[in-house]
Amino acid sequence: MRFIDAHCHLDHDSFGTGADLTPIIARMRQSNTMAITHGTHAASNKAQLDLVARYPDVLRAACGLDPFHAANEDLDAHLAFLEAAHTAKKLAAIGEIGLDLHYFGPETLARQRDVFEAQLAFGEKKGLACVIHTRKAVDEVLDTLPSFKGIHVLHFFLEKKHAAKALERGCYLSLPTVKSKDRTTIIKMAPLDRLLCETDSPYGWKSGTGTGGDGKSERNEPSNVHEVYDHIAPTQNKDLKDVQEQIALNYGKVFQT
Ligand SMILES: [Zn+2]
Repeated sequence: MRFIDAHCHLDHDSFGTGADLTPIIARMRQSNTMAITHGTHAASNKAQLDLVARYPDVLRAACGLDPFHAANEDLDAHLAFLEAAHTAKKLAAIGEIGLDLHYFGPETLARQRDVFEAQLAFGEKKGLACVIHTRKAVDEVLDTLPSFKGIHVLHFFLEKKHAAKALERGCYLSLPTVKSKDRTTIIKMAPLDRLLCETDSPYGWKSGTGTGGDGKSERNEPSNVHEVYDHIAPTQNKDLKDVQEQIALNYGKVFQT
C-alpha cells in the first residue's frame, strides 16, 4: 500500500542540482511513496515538470505562482504556461498558490489576491484542484473560496480554530509532518475522507520528529510522510492500512494522476 506526500518542493536548492535526489528517490521507492512536487514561480514550475519526466514512477507535478512571487512575476505568461502544461496533461493540480499575511503586509494583499484569484479561476475552468497556502490569512482565503467552484486543498494545515469553517467550505486539509496538539485536534474532528498528508519538503521537519532528537530544523523528504499516517491511525482508531487506503482514494479524487 502506498504513502502519498501531497505537497513538497523537490527543486529546492537544498536538494542540490539533481545528483542528490538519487537517494531521496530511492527511499521513496523503498517505502512505496508518491509525491506531488509543487512549483512556486516560472523557473520552479519548469523544474517540477523536468523532475516528473525523470522520475515518473514516484512524482507528479503541481504548478503555481505563490504569494512570495506574486509581485514580481508576469501573471499572463504564467497563465499561458499553465494552459500549455494542462493541455499536455502534465498538471496534477494548481499550486502552490494562496495568500500570506505572515511575511507580507496588508498593502500587498490586492496584488496577492489578483494572482490567487486568477489561478482559482483557472482551476475552476479546467477542473484542476488548487493547493493553497494560508499563512496568517486563513479567514481571507476561506472568505474567497466560495466564489470559485472546484477542489480546494489547504496545505500545511494546523489551524484548529479554522478547521470547522474549512471543512464546512468543503476543503481538504493537508496535514504536515509537524507534531502538535493542534494536529491531534484536527485529526479528531476531520473525517478521513477530507484529509491528505504532506511533508512540504525541504521544510516541515525537525530532528527528533518521532525519535526524540534536539528539535533543530532538518531537510525533510517525501518518505518521511509516513509520520503523519502514523499519527492519524491511532488517533482515529484505525489500522494504518485503512488510513493508507482512504488517503489513496482522496489522492485519486483530488489530483489528476
Ligand atoms: Zn509549499
